[in-house]
Amino acid sequence: MTDRCNFRCTYCMPKEVFGPGYPFLPREAVLSFEEITRLAGIFAGLGVTKVRLTGGEPLLRRELPSLVRKLASVPGLEDLALTTNGVLLSELAPALRAAGLKRLTVSLDTLRQERLRAISDTDLPLATILNGLEAARAAGFGPIKLNCVLQRGVNDDEILALAAYAREQGHTLRFIEFMDVGRTNGWQLDSVVPAAEVHRILHAQWPLEPIATDQGAVARRWRYADGGGEVGLIASVTGPFCAGCDRARLSADGHLYTCLFAGEGLDLKAFLRSGHGDPDLAALLASHWKRRSDRYSERRSADTAGLPRIEMSHIGG
Ligand code: SAM
Ligand code: SF4
Repeated sequence: MTDRCNFRCTYCMPKEVFGPGYPFLPREAVLSFEEITRLAGIFAGLGVTKVRLTGGEPLLRRELPSLVRKLASVPGLEDLALTTNGVLLSELAPALRAAGLKRLTVSLDTLRQERLRAISDTDLPLATILNGLEAARAAGFGPIKLNCVLQRGVNDDEILALAAYAREQGHTLRFIEFMDVGRTNGWQLDSVVPAAEVHRILHAQWPLEPIATDQGAVARRWRYADGGGEVGLIASVTGPFCAGCDRARLSADGHLYTCLFAGEGLDLKAFLRSGHGDPDLAALLASHWKRRSDRYSERRSADTAGLPRIEMSHIGG
């Protein structure tokens, strides 16, 4: 939706890089709602059934509910989801729900005020996000997913506290391994908290049972045996899932990326704006998709370390 954000999470948009001089996309470079809806229709014609709106922070995009309304009426799109940092949810949750948004994921890395400040470089009270979650539930969203990026020595001592909060609230927490997306977040393997370790910690407190996962799902799902809901573990570094990946990512400026770690995208915006019809676009998408061979997470090694990579805030996670 946008490459801009009201947070500066250290693992995604470190303030030293994404500061006042950063060249964010100018308005005319960003796809309009009409262009996004047209592309969604073409993707749906090729078999896509699920769309997730993300960013940057998608709720910063003005009039977002009107885009949701347009997408909700695209034939073939069965599932419409959004990932947000939750800051503007209290304001927007009812309108998003009324417009047809089906599912919501909210990022929550900590339940401690000082840590929120340190991780996301914000002075906002943590209560803004927690109240946003309440507002979303009141608007009819549920179960809401919570995304937590764990980093060694930063928030890995909050695994049980976050899980307890999610269990009490009826949210589905997913722990995500810190990934080396982009070139700016100073990623080191030492900072990754392996999903197996998270599983061990959770299982010792609340025994877990596996839940079968759908093809293409990124999270391995577990059920609390005591009926406390479920939890997901996304082992993007220690257990890559490239082989089953079926995600196409569209940046705010209309480039198509077939991998989270891609170096360059296919410029669909230029094609859209040069007057091509839908059948031409569909043919381009289909041939590009068939030719894709990305599988960065499986290949991660000294050989791939120097390759260019798109930033997370451009393609949304
Ligand atoms: N701003 C929204 C948010 O934070 O939810 C949506 C965009 S954000 C890029 C999407 C997801 O990617 C968030 O849950 C965020 O925590 C996750 N993320 C960002 N950088 C990451 C990284 N280096 N490793 C793992 N997850 C990351
Ligand atoms: Fe913004 Fe989301 Fe990236 Fe944090 S993870 S900087 S909230 S886009």
